[in-house]
Parts: sequence; structure tokens; C-alpha cells
Amino acid sequence: KENSNPNQIRGKEIPNIKNIIAIASGKGGVGKSTITANTAISLSKMGFNVGILDADVYGPSQHIMFDVEKERPLSVKVDGRSKMKPIENYGVKLLSLGFFTDPNQAVIWRGPMASKALNQLIFDGDWGELDFLLIDLPPGTGDVHLSIVQALPINGAVVVSTPQNIALADAKKGVAMFQQENINVPVLGIVENMAYFTPEELPDNKYYIFGKDGAKNLAEDIKTQFLGEIPLVQSIRESSDVGHPVALQEGTLLEEAFNNITKEMV
Ligand code: ADP
Repeated sequence: KENSNPNQIRGKEIPNIKNIIAIASGKGGVGKSTITANTAISLSKMGFNVGILDADVYGPSQHIMFDVEKERPLSVKVDGRSKMKPIENYGVKLLSLGFFTDPNQAVIWRGPMASKALNQLIFDGDWGELDFLLIDLPPGTGDVHLSIVQALPINGAVVVSTPQNIALADAKKGVAMFQQENINVPVLGIVENMAYFTPEELPDNKYYIFGKDGAKNLAEDIKTQFLGEIPLVQSIRESSDVGHPVALQEGTLLEEAFNNITKEMV
């Protein structure tokens, strides 16, 4: 897609990255990072060149989900310039602040500092040719997010929410942030995560633990696309924790669900 974002960073372009998509959520813990990891894997399996920038300055987790926690990006020379080689697994290239911070230390980022560090990861990353760079944003709509969203040349945003009212209210704020005049990032749509739960012993039953169709209704209300839903499933959490996201499991319903969302996104 054309790079339509007017907020190019100080006039800089990233010619080797075709689309930068921010994955956002109003509230924390709704599955933004899980959706980012699994859609990146789906994109890669569809044949796209994909990278993730983990910009969740409060708690980066992509390096754990991609099972590369102990790796450190190497410095390489590209056209005489020092660049950082992203760590690659499951066909996805990853750069994260998590590679550079001590997991036992609390890092307090202010907006400009966070966006500067992330800028460096984007512009000094040796990404090669990418069709998609997904940015896993921190949850919320505060100062840090504004700095990041204003500073990075984002083509579109996907907002993740659970169907719960309180999460939806925050998701709405997230959407509003992207639509602000000085930001103006097109919202590609909303993903509903933890949409329902089906117990193993009652496979035909759906329990709407966090409410029903909330994100679907929100998408309709604010006239954005509903990209799809992911149920609450124990294996999603377990496979993320062990660094092998569910989208890697060929022929499963969850792989299909992530593929469908990804197709809607692109
Ligand atoms: P966020 O990035 O919004 O903070 P995460 O992706 O880290 O959220 O998800 C929070 C927790 O919920 C993680 O432990 C994750 O594995 C789990 N999780 C996310 N989505 C699901 C789901 N659909 N089913 C089960 N567990 C999930």
C-alpha cells in the first residue's frame, strides 16, 4: 500500500519498509502482544517479509513469545553505517527494547526518550526489505504513546480489545488518539480478543465471559472495520509462554482464526 501518512519522521522515509502498522490497545492485558505475534507469523506464512518492533516500553514480551529471550542483536556494517541486525525466528525479524534492558530493573521512559530509542531501533535496524513492520505499542494513550505515534511513520493502526465495557471505553480513546488531527493515522480496524470461552467438556457451548460482541458493536459505532475475534483459550496463553505462538500450529482452528484476521488486515 502507498505510504499515506503525512507524519514522516523529520522528512525521513524508510524505502525498504512498505507498511508500518501499529497494534494498539486502550487497556493493558487484553492480548495486544499476543495478536501482534500471531498475525506476524500468519503474514510470514502467507509469504510476506515481516518484522516486529516491540515498542511496549513498560513490558516488552515479544522476545519471550518468539523464544529469543537470551539473544542480543549484533552490530553490522551496511553501506558504511553501523546497523543492528534484528533477531529472527519463525520467519519474523524482531527488535525490542527488551534486548537492551535488564529484566530485573524497572525502566522509566519518558515520551521523548522512548520515541528516540524506538526511532533508533527502526532506522538503525538492518531490516532488509519488509512488506510489513508491526509495532507492538504500549497499552494506553498517554504521553509515551503520543510521542511514539507522532514520531514514527505509521501507515495504519489496529486496535485490540476484549468485549468488556471498560476495555472498550479505553479502545475508543485509542482510536480517537490515532484520528487526532496532528496524528491522522488511519485505523484499519478492531480485533476482539478473549471473545468467548468454550470448555473442553462442553464443546458446543460458548460462554461470553467478558460480554458479547462489544468490539464488533464498537467497530460499527465508530465506522471502522471489525477484523475478527479470537476466543479465550488456554493453549494461546501456554504456547506464548513457551515461545511457540499458536499460529504456528498448522491446520488448527486457532491458526485459521489468526489467518482470517491477518487477511482482513492486509
Ligand atoms: P497485552 O499485550 O495487551 O498486555 P498480552 O498479549 O500480553 O496482552 O496478553 C496478556 C495475557 O493474556 C498473556 O498471558 C497472554 O498469553 C494471555 N492471552 C492473550 N490472549 C489470550 C487468549 N485469546 N486466550 C488465552 N490467553 C490469552
